[in-house]
Amino acid sequence: MSEHLYTIAINEHFGKKCGCPICSLHEMLEKNELKAITGAAMMEPSIRIQTNRLGFCYDHFNKMITYGKRLPVALILQSHLEEIRAHINSSSPDAVEKYLSNLGHSCYVCEKLEEKMKHVRSNIVYLWKSDENFRKLFSEQQRFCLPHYRELLSASKELGRRDRIAFCAELGKITKGSLQVLNDDIDWFCKKFDYRFAKEDWKNSKDAIERTVETLTSKLPAKRNEDI
Ligand SMILES: [Zn+2]
Ligand SMILES: [Zn+2]
Repeated sequence: MSEHLYTIAINEHFGKKCGCPICSLHEMLEKNELKAITGAAMMEPSIRIQTNRLGFCYDHFNKMITYGKRLPVALILQSHLEEIRAHINSSSPDAVEKYLSNLGHSCYVCEKLEEKMKHVRSNIVYLWKSDENFRKLFSEQQRFCLPHYRELLSASKELGRRDRIAFCAELGKITKGSLQVLNDDIDWFCKKFDYRFAKEDWKNSKDAIERTVETLTSKLPAKRNEDI
């Protein structure tokens, strides 16, 4: 089963016990995909057909430019532009509108990643059900961001009824606990702007805004250029 391909990676990322382990797995797979697309896979005709058709989202264009070398990125853009021009030059206004609307919502990297993450999620649920050590590791996680919490709730439908109740209870316990901590940190951050608390320690609240955005969106926001 292709799901089992990710067993080692899952154990490794859950083993870090730091932040959302699914974010960490996603980041690794995303880096691999970006490396492949701006490396050897770039010259593969079958992949070029897909990148020409699907294009990239803004986030992945940015990451390709950040991680990839200039020439591979330019070569991908060159044939992508040629295909876009062929559509625009030979289609009716309605067909062009439909084509551009689809293109605006598709991304080669997002599509590839989602395919892989689906297997990762199935594998996590399978490991939780079949591997006692992993079940323990799962219960020791600090937190899951909300998008990945939702995805795991959905993936848990692969379990039988009794297992699903136990899995969701464990997942819920971790998430509710981490949201409580986050909420306490945000509360304290807000309090610190009250003169009565100005001299108190910041405790763990200095990056509470960033951690909250990351928990809600699974993406770390850009750092501000100042301490507070
Ligand atoms: Zn996450
Ligand atoms: Zn994308």
